[in-house]
Amino acid sequence: RPLVGNLIGEDHVNYVLMYNMLTGIRIGVSRCQAKIKRPLTDLDFSARHKFSFDIVGNELTPSAKYDFKFKDYAPWVFRTLREDHFTIDPADYLLSLTSKYILSELGSPGKSGSFFYFSRDYRFIIKTIRHSEHKFLLGILKGYYEHVKDNPHTLLSRFYGLHRVKLPRGRKIHFVIMNNLFPPHKDIHETFDLKGSTVGREYPEDKAAVNPRAVLKDMNWVNRGKMLELGPEKRALLIEQLRRDSEFLKSVSVMDYSLLVGIHSMQRGNRENVRKNTLKVFSPDIPVSPRSRAKSLTSKGGIKSPEAIAMRRAMRSSDPKRIGNDSSIHLPEEDSVDKHHFIFYQDEGGLRATDEKNDPLDTIYYLGVIDILTPYGVVKKMEHFWKGLKDDRRKISPVPPSEYGDRFFSFMRAIMRGGEGGAKFT
Ligand code: ATP
Ligand code: CA
Ligand code: CA
Repeated sequence: RPLVGNLIGEDHVNYVLMYNMLTGIRIGVSRCQAKIKRPLTDLDFSARHKFSFDIVGNELTPSAKYDFKFKDYAPWVFRTLREDHFTIDPADYLLSLTSKYILSELGSPGKSGSFFYFSRDYRFIIKTIRHSEHKFLLGILKGYYEHVKDNPHTLLSRFYGLHRVKLPRGRKIHFVIMNNLFPPHKDIHETFDLKGSTVGREYPEDKAAVNPRAVLKDMNWVNRGKMLELGPEKRALLIEQLRRDSEFLKSVSVMDYSLLVGIHSMQRGNRENVRKNTLKVFSPDIPVSPRSRAKSLTSKGGIKSPEAIAMRRAMRSSDPKRIGNDSSIHLPEEDSVDKHHFIFYQDEGGLRATDEKNDPLDTIYYLGVIDILTPYGVVKKMEHFWKGLKDDRRKISPVPPSEYGDRFFSFMRAIMRGGEGGAKFT
């Protein structure tokens, strides 16, 4: 994973596509945003807004540099998710994504062929997705929305928009906009993509030694003897949220997702950080909005930060509904949550490690459940069959969703200090 990605200028092969995506977002999102907010209806989940761009322009769409069509899916649902549940400031959102056509491209880090683009301030990711993933997201949108509403602290990918660009020769590109789990202002010293599957889940250690940005996998985690260092308080909250999130993923029959874990060591600090400076160099004339600047500079002191204290107070004063089978764990309820503070993203955008007394340690974790749009369809069933001939059918990555979800959850629970230990999975 390159730290910065390649910035896309006019001479880049994907410049036109990116220009079209961002122009579409700018017009589509601001159209929706200009209207007065209203409660969602069922129809909003199946709504689509179409825009046709050309070099001349018309009363609906301003002139654009290229001819293309843009489709905005369920715009009101995503607006509501962004504003009410993910607390994204609408102006910030548009500014980050479209104020200047500078995005950096991560290329295609996964095997799927998807492309990833960062917004210039590194807060948002545009991921191109397959048509099947696109249809799948539309299919589960209602359920996803309800889950987010009921689980303000969900670790699932935060989807901010679902769109399609159609190029003149008919090529259709679907994409989502989602949160970048990693912070713009902190180095990530180790990255893991964990599934709870052990077969083929190892990044070669010799290559990792020369590539600090390698995305490591389950077996690297286990062999390196890693643990998520979280004291009883955070551990209980994280386990409970992961339990709820994996139950949701099971209920919509998806699999192949992973827990992305970025580890920042406060002792190592940001010496190796070039990202911030690079962004500055390439976009010197773009002011950072005061709001996002404020955000990145706040919450200094981990669990004892004012935000965390306020959150704890809110948690205590609320009348927490019992969840799950463990009656001792309460996640804060939606209306008692100060919406700007998400438990798992409260310490400089992440979750600071704590010891058994819940006192802060010098590590910040950046975590979330990603790649959640793969249903267990024909392709995955075939993979399950073929890979199962060679290896243990329970340990390979493609297994049916309910098995996948249970295995995922038990792995995550076991890799936390105080849990049963990851060694169990070797
Ligand atoms: P495959 O299906 O082969 O796993 P994919 O193209 O669907 O690949 P993802 O699994 O979604 O890709 O992501 C690939 C990598 O991109 C991740 O391992 C991670 O390093 C990075 N990445 C993905 N989503 C995010 C995110 N929200 N924040 C930060 N990094 C991300
Ligand atoms: Ca993946
Ligand atoms: Ca994928």
